[in-house]
Amino acid sequence: MYSYLMTITNAKVRTAAIIGGGVAGPVTAMALRRAGIEATVFEAYAHGAEGVGSFLTVAVNGQRALRELDLLDLVQQHGFDCPRFEFVSGKGKPLGGFPAAPESLKDGLTSRTLRRTDLYTALRDEALHRGVPVEYGKRLVNAERTRDGVTAVFADGSRFTADILVGADGLLSRTRELIDPAAPKPRYVPLLNTGGFTRASVPGDPGTMVMYFGRDAFFCHMLDPQGVVWWFANIPQVRELTPAELAAITPEQWRKRLVDTFAVDETPAQAIVEATEQIAQPWNTYDFPSVPNWHNDRMVLVGDAAHAASPTSGQGASLAVEDALVLAKSLRDEPNATAAFSAYVGQRRDRVERIVAQAKKLSSDKMPGPIGRIIRDIALPIVFAKRAKSGGDDWVLTHEIRWAA
Ligand SMILES: Cc1cc2nc3c(=O)[nH]c(=O)nc-3n(C[C@H](O)[C@H](O)[C@H](O)COP(=O)(O)OP(=O)(O)OC[C@H]3O[C@@H](n4cnc5c(N)ncnc54)[C@H](O)[C@@H]3O)c2cc1C
Repeated sequence: MYSYLMTITNAKVRTAAIIGGGVAGPVTAMALRRAGIEATVFEAYAHGAEGVGSFLTVAVNGQRALRELDLLDLVQQHGFDCPRFEFVSGKGKPLGGFPAAPESLKDGLTSRTLRRTDLYTALRDEALHRGVPVEYGKRLVNAERTRDGVTAVFADGSRFTADILVGADGLLSRTRELIDPAAPKPRYVPLLNTGGFTRASVPGDPGTMVMYFGRDAFFCHMLDPQGVVWWFANIPQVRELTPAELAAITPEQWRKRLVDTFAVDETPAQAIVEATEQIAQPWNTYDFPSVPNWHNDRMVLVGDAAHAASPTSGQGASLAVEDALVLAKSLRDEPNATAAFSAYVGQRRDRVERIVAQAKKLSSDKMPGPIGRIIRDIALPIVFAKRAKSGGDDWVLTHEIRWAA
């Protein structure tokens, strides 16, 4: 009997239910297919990400992971390169800058900024093209262990049984709760996010991300090759606002708050905000210091469900792609699902938690008190000069995962 059970548990994983159709979901599905596992993606929303606002930057490590899965073109077909970061104080004083990709990487890749909707849609379409079924309107509510697999139970009453279930269901992951009902909740980072697109005159070369540590808030702009300014801002917000409170902020109130906040700075932020027709409704920032259990014997987490870094890191999407690649490799090389999951977590946990911690520290620099502000504006030029010389973050960007290895 025991050896019979062992045969079952050691049977190679053949099928997977992937929960979530964001970044991690479709990429994991495509990576698993490469490992010989048939994956189906289930997304809670009734439609794709068409029209989802805002934008994100895929760092070089994320692009290199995409390249291993022949997905790099998808990112390169949208948005534009952002080869340099420049930092400026609220008084307009340059604080320093450095390239977005370490010089040691000789493959010509650099950070790429693209609209979130373009990324999600391109990944979904490519997954479909590669034969991955993607089902919408499927919100996971429960999971039941079967003799040799797991059944996903959806809010519409439908069910789907597979050998494994991969939770790519983001920050508020239901899969995380199902794996560990005592799992911690996301940690609130006291910053509101917003952003927009407009035409305005801005300093800096096209593609350069110019970031301002304003007196009361953080602002970043970049100019795309068509002359459109893409911008985002982080506004300190000590008390976490509820979804209802966020939704109740009218566009006029939000615009006024931003204009008033940036009025004290000697930067283009205020003028850019004023020139923007449609400013994104604010949304809260969260991160995850550590999720104790990323898996059980049949379920495993990838992407934000396992380890959300605050957006300050610029790494969320890239880490999600890295996860997909490592998980698929682990399942390719190790027939026992639990052992494969352990191997995957062993390769990922330290790296992602270090990046989350680093982003938390950077977020704090965006909201110092009056004395902290003075210290920050003195310290940052030294930090950036050191960073430019020593390649302080290179360990994040040069990380390499080879499918063939
Ligand atoms: C303001 C902001 C700016 C950011 N900027 C950057 C950046 O510049 N660079 C970067 O790399 N990252 C950035 N990120 C982070 C990045 O967006 C995320 O890390 C990335 O999207 C994670 O991908 P994911 O697939 O894990 O989660 P998501 O993209 O959130 O996808 C999760 C999916 O799961 C679905 N889902 C949720 N629950 C269920 C359920 N129960 N059943 C079925 N489906 C479900 C959701 O609808 C969603 O489609 C930013 C994030 C924010 C908020």
